[in-house]
Amino acid sequence: MQSSDNPMQSLMYITNRPDIVFTRGSGSWIFDSEGKRYLDFIQGWAVNSLGHCHPAMIEALEKQARALINPSPAFYNEPMANLATLLTGHSVFDKVFFANSGAEANEGAIKLARKWGKKFKNGAYEIITFDHSFHGRTIATMSASGKPGWDTLYAPQVPGFPKAELNDIASVEKLIGEKTVAVMLEPIQGEGGVIPATREFMRELRELTQRHGLLLIVDEVQSGCGRAGTLFAYELAGIEPDIMTLGKGIGGGVPLAALLSKAEVAVFEAGDQGGTYNGNPLMAAVGHAVIKTLVTPGFLESVRARGAYLREKLLELSAERGFEGERGEGLLRALLLGKDIGPQIVEKARELQPTGLLLNAARPNLLRFMPALNVTDDEIDQMMAMLRTVLDSL
Ligand SMILES: *Cc1c(COP(=O)(O)O)cnc(C)c1O
Repeated sequence: MQSSDNPMQSLMYITNRPDIVFTRGSGSWIFDSEGKRYLDFIQGWAVNSLGHCHPAMIEALEKQARALINPSPAFYNEPMANLATLLTGHSVFDKVFFANSGAEANEGAIKLARKWGKKFKNGAYEIITFDHSFHGRTIATMSASGKPGWDTLYAPQVPGFPKAELNDIASVEKLIGEKTVAVMLEPIQGEGGVIPATREFMRELRELTQRHGLLLIVDEVQSGCGRAGTLFAYELAGIEPDIMTLGKGIGGGVPLAALLSKAEVAVFEAGDQGGTYNGNPLMAAVGHAVIKTLVTPGFLESVRARGAYLREKLLELSAERGFEGERGEGLLRALLLGKDIGPQIVEKARELQPTGLLLNAARPNLLRFMPALNVTDDEIDQMMAMLRTVLDSL
């Protein structure tokens, strides 16, 4: 038992957090317990697609909370069906399984591919993944990830995830063998530093996997749900994957994730897959409100326009300060600093007075921007002005 003046003392240490407690948020703005406000270009880690506390989400939460919160995963409920239908209606997939986190959705994708391999490919189970990829923090998804150091952190790893190099089709082809069942990738590596797979590479991968009878799995936990300017990032390459996972933006801030597949790949049998909260109606109702908003005519066009605007502003700044340009899709972008000043910028931006700015440095030599998808040009201008103030002070 512990007692102390610090109310955070009882939390298990996992990472260094700034000495700030956030108490409320609205749109692109978040407020701490001292009343200081911050312009939020992190948005829960590319999670709050509609910004903080969007009315459509609050309404869905309230309505569903009064109706039914948890009937048990052994029964159908209406929100799970409504959201699944919305997702299949706006994607190339036919079947949906809901989960609570991106890692859990990816675990489901790995299991589904292994099951499919057992059934149709002589027990093949290897899934080719990529250097610098990020698929989650469970033991299997850490093993699938190509994050440096993770191969030994909680050794031994789960076997069966050989690593290829993004945008290098020969590196994938080289790894294909009798045991290979699938290739899994993020269409845009988010945690790796906002590195898009090229459209050409996505098409080559589709062709290669088809030729070898392998599944193509896209982890769209970060790139999906409007973030890339299209509802799903695979659309940018004009290809049809076999399996997709969603997380982060699908719930707009509540814990919700999904595993989607083509009908012929949905081979789970009774008891193969589950989870206490899968298809929980409270979360599904919120996810439905979020996706419904994203597919409103004009919404995704506006994400693309804001993304183009942010890109233009970042390129201007880059030219002005001698940085190395920018990259990304839609409203998932990175400014390439060319030196390891990212963490310093992040800290100084947060400490700006009277209004702070929340930014992320996915790697020390870049800044990652993941604002609300309904961010305004004016908020982008404010962010750029604050960023200039920080850069002037370095
Ligand atoms: C965040 C992320 C995950 C993990 O999601 P959690 O909800 O944290 O488990 C998996 N894949 C990608 C691409 C991500 O960005």
